[in-house]
Amino acid sequence: MQFYPFSKIEKKWQKFWEEKKVFETKENSKKPKFYCLDMFPYPSAEGLHVGHFRGYTFSDVIAKKRKMEGYEVLHPMGFDAFGLPAENFAIKTGIHPQITTKRAINKIREQLKRAGLGYDWKREIITCEPEYYKFTQWMFLTFYKAGLAYKKFSPVNFCPSCKTVLAREQVIEGKCERCKSKVEKREMEQWFFKITAYAERLLKDLEKLDWPENIKTMQKNWIGKSEGAEVDFEILNQNLKIKVFTTRIDTIFGCTFLVLAPENPILEKLKQKIENWKEVERYIKEAKQKTEIERLAENRKKTGIKLLGIEVKNPLTEKIIPVFVGDYVLGEYASGAIMGVPAHDQRDFIFAKANNLEILWVIKGEGEIDYQKAFEGEGILINSGPFSGLKSQKAREEITKYLESKNLGKKAVYYKLRDWCISRQRYWGAPIPIVYCEKCGMVPVPEKELPVVLPKIKDFLPTGEGKSPLAKVKSFVNTKCPKCKRRAKRETDTMDTFVCSSWYFLRYVDPKNKKVFAQKKKIKKFLPVDLYVGGAEHATMHLLYARFFTKVLKDLGYLEFDEPFLKLFNQGTVYYKGAKMSKSKGNVVTPEYIFEKYGADTLRMYEMFMGPSDQAIEWSDKDILGVFRFLNKVWNLAKKVTKNKIENLNLEKLWHKTLKKVEEDVENFKFNTAISSLMIFCNFLEKEKEIPKDIFVDFVKVLAIFAPHLGEELYHRLTNKKNSVFFEKFPKADPKKLIEEKIIFLFQVNGKVRDKMEVEKGISREKAESLAFESEKLKKFLEGKKIEKVVFVKDKLINFVVK
Ligand SMILES: [Zn+2]
Ligand SMILES: [Zn+2]
Repeated sequence: MQFYPFSKIEKKWQKFWEEKKVFETKENSKKPKFYCLDMFPYPSAEGLHVGHFRGYTFSDVIAKKRKMEGYEVLHPMGFDAFGLPAENFAIKTGIHPQITTKRAINKIREQLKRAGLGYDWKREIITCEPEYYKFTQWMFLTFYKAGLAYKKFSPVNFCPSCKTVLAREQVIEGKCERCKSKVEKREMEQWFFKITAYAERLLKDLEKLDWPENIKTMQKNWIGKSEGAEVDFEILNQNLKIKVFTTRIDTIFGCTFLVLAPENPILEKLKQKIENWKEVERYIKEAKQKTEIERLAENRKKTGIKLLGIEVKNPLTEKIIPVFVGDYVLGEYASGAIMGVPAHDQRDFIFAKANNLEILWVIKGEGEIDYQKAFEGEGILINSGPFSGLKSQKAREEITKYLESKNLGKKAVYYKLRDWCISRQRYWGAPIPIVYCEKCGMVPVPEKELPVVLPKIKDFLPTGEGKSPLAKVKSFVNTKCPKCKRRAKRETDTMDTFVCSSWYFLRYVDPKNKKVFAQKKKIKKFLPVDLYVGGAEHATMHLLYARFFTKVLKDLGYLEFDEPFLKLFNQGTVYYKGAKMSKSKGNVVTPEYIFEKYGADTLRMYEMFMGPSDQAIEWSDKDILGVFRFLNKVWNLAKKVTKNKIENLNLEKLWHKTLKKVEEDVENFKFNTAISSLMIFCNFLEKEKEIPKDIFVDFVKVLAIFAPHLGEELYHRLTNKKNSVFFEKFPKADPKKLIEEKIIFLFQVNGKVRDKMEVEKGISREKAESLAFESEKLKKFLEGKKIEKVVFVKDKLINFVVK
């Protein structure tokens, strides 16, 4: 088989697109806008593998289609260049991250260009460049001034191998997301963004978004709203109260003990009164070493220590009950204390059994009570004084009302979401623009002094002492106080790289602006993002942070919208040899290999054709060949195109049917079935002697969004036009051509008409036969008979000769 000259064609058109600025966005255009965004890659030295191209291809098809539909499309690309992956690679190789990052970016940019992806490269952003991180620092200062950035001592997740603090989201099952080391708890002073102030809005506004349901659910669970009641338990003889939060206030008559989190500050206040303080103190210390995952593990023994000398009163039963400290209660969550209701909470049940505590059943479900385990469902209250007989839901309302009337408690809402720890003790990040002055205290760097430039240093290895390597750089640390001009010191922590990516989509509309992160007019023209394509692994980090940033900037008057990404699509992962493609597993196919062997158009088509776009799929070396053959077939079909206009009604009809299907499928991200419709259409073309030019040119326009190089080449060959195919209008199916003509079709047995049906014109022999066997009227003439002959007259009749 002779292959079409893909290599020559692809180079030619890539150059053409760049020279003619085909994919550059015109800011002053009067057309409606379409902002199509990919999650930008971090520059890894290995470059991208073919698995990475799936999402990029999807967004590119949509972007190209929108362009041809008359939109001013913004389709930019950049690099998420700060952070651990780049730095860890630099550490491994001993080469400065500035150099390795630059090399990696050059490599990836080249790969993306070779794939024929239509990005506006004039808008490229690189987050580790001072022109960009100047505004990351500006964002920090803006948050700081709005009271949304603060510093505090807190227990943090620390990776002993990466030697840095990790966000809660970066700890997966107790291990570092990056290097899989076991994460430790440390008490350190850290910077936080107050994302908790936006918990309710981040939750509520999920409703507005056209996002995959699973991502919305993950964010919902991550924010973790619980509605319930807060109750005060009075400590006997102490004039102190313990605040308890519960979502099941209907079970309060069954509360026979309290458990405090080891972090609960009331413990410190009570230490003089706790008779076994030494033992309690030791327990608290040990608990603080453990990670949340360890403390909450289902199968773990629920430990706890009774606080001797401390007793509280259940405000409803007036019973005197004991108090424990237990590490299965988390200090950061809710009030840091729970009411122990062993009959109606399995953890409390196990705890009560282990500590010989009273178990009182106060809710009755259907059937007999099983005294061997807790009943956690809803039911009717029993043994609950005046509330006995009420249903759980009603009881919760009534008991809360009662508590409020007696000033013993109130309705309350808690969220699992914590503030976002953004400081890192690492070199490769944007420095936090804060100065410490002995006289003035913490002073933000004035905006006009931004950026605080990350110094180029040789010794960029993490120190492991909880300090950034920047702390060793005297020329960086020593500075003047912006307020009093005395000697002062700079903050040496850098920002979490997720801060850089929380606002990058805003920068693309005005990437060269030196004064502001983006001009308002340009933001208004292009934002919010209409379509965002990327991996689902960012559900609770990047996608939540970017929403948070957008809401803050909206509140501060910088934006006019409060959701950044209206529609989100997550592409399925690519597997190879049974595992997710990755360099470390050695199961990687490089795009270069495919570019050389089959060309970029084959890679693109195969990325789409391999299976449903949102599902994980196995890369197949064999199937890609099928796609390559298809493109060769198209190449050869072009040779049959007539110069003159010829009529072929059947072909025209099939084309419009195909067009309609492709249109619908692409809009629903069903790229695989869209392509298979094009393949079916080409099979039909193969049988034709001549192909009408107008139909084939339209076919080429459609093909171009999937296989842009071949599309462009054939378009130019067939039309002699000078401009790009992407300035053409995307063909639309003509509804008139889609109407199926109906005819009356006769069904005969031995020459006698036994049934008539209205059928599609052009009905096939097979279809007519199967209709005959389904017909009730024909049944008695055909059943049990031997059919000797079938006569089929196109668009007229079918006759069965039987004996
Ligand atoms: Zn690590
Ligand atoms: Zn000062």
